[in-house]
Amino acid sequence: MRYSLSIARIAGIEIKIHATFFLLLAFIAFSYHRSGGAAAAIDGVIFVSLVFLSVLLHEFGHAFAARRYGIRTPDITLLPIGGLARLERIPENPQQELVIAVAGPLVNVAIAAGLWAYLGLTGGLPHPSNIEQVGVSLPLRLLAANVVLVVFNLIPAFPMDGGRVLRAFLAMRMEYARATQIAATIGQGMAFLLGALGLLHSPPIPMLILVAVFVFIGAGQEAALAQLRSASAGLRVSSAMVTRFLSLRREDTLHDAVDALLETAQHEFPVVDADGGVCGILTRDDLIVALRKSGADTPVAEVMRVNVPALDLSMPLDRAFSLIQESGCDALPVLDSAGRLVGLFTPENVGEFMMVQTALKSSLPGGRLVRRPPPLPVG
Ligand code: ZN
Repeated sequence: MRYSLSIARIAGIEIKIHATFFLLLAFIAFSYHRSGGAAAAIDGVIFVSLVFLSVLLHEFGHAFAARRYGIRTPDITLLPIGGLARLERIPENPQQELVIAVAGPLVNVAIAAGLWAYLGLTGGLPHPSNIEQVGVSLPLRLLAANVVLVVFNLIPAFPMDGGRVLRAFLAMRMEYARATQIAATIGQGMAFLLGALGLLHSPPIPMLILVAVFVFIGAGQEAALAQLRSASAGLRVSSAMVTRFLSLRREDTLHDAVDALLETAQHEFPVVDADGGVCGILTRDDLIVALRKSGADTPVAEVMRVNVPALDLSMPLDRAFSLIQESGCDALPVLDSAGRLVGLFTPENVGEFMMVQTALKSSLPGGRLVRRPPPLPVG
């Protein structure tokens, strides 16, 4: 994610904090300071930091559970609205998804239970009759925050953990794509209810409306992804790649890259050496950044991304999807069995290909467009 600051690396997972998170801390400090002075400001910042530590541990719960199934988590990002553990892939095995989804909230249950025990031992738990006036001690507030985190995350709607739990249960009984579709519809229904509740409440609750929008979009994305996966089952990279594209040579400069960018609709360019082997990918974003920093005479070889995975023609489409997600690059080169560059795999092109497939499927049942084999590269 952009504007994220890498702060640590724990157990091979990069911990990042989004810039807006510091705005939140500053806002908390400022508003507490106005109402209660420096002591209140420090207390507020400590409390919010501890809540986010709980969120971070929650994300580690997901990451460690995923690791049990051989799924890596390259990074965890903390945002003002919560945490985001970026798993390499979501397992299609419902039992595995269930364990990974539940592991996060379980961490908060454990933290809450620990605080409860601590407060019980030290006599810090309020008597039920005077619960109204307490809420002052830090451990008690942290306990409440962790309970809220559990409840909030178990709302059965994507992208909340509860949505994944729901899908896992459904997927044990039906096809994965259908389970996702149903879970997404339930999630959007929930989002609608939450939004209505936030709007109709007087005064309106902006936080609830924000969460509703967030859930509505998340549910739609998840459904689209699952549809894509089911539509692409059995298909190969060769059927959905771009076969007409421009490449750059290793010795080209950013000036040549700009010409290529403006001449074509392409955003990413494979960079090839004299023998035609792929040595990297130049993305539009990297090109623009480098132009600003070091000028048009910089060789593309200095700016291109190296170590991008190459796909082969017969690779299944869903495997290619996971690879392009992991790589964080918007295009991957496709090589033939001799290692020659024959195509470019981009999400946009795959999206267009899927639209065609869907249209064909609805017009002729069982119809599928099989593409002619790509022409051999010229020159
Ligand atoms: Zn979670």
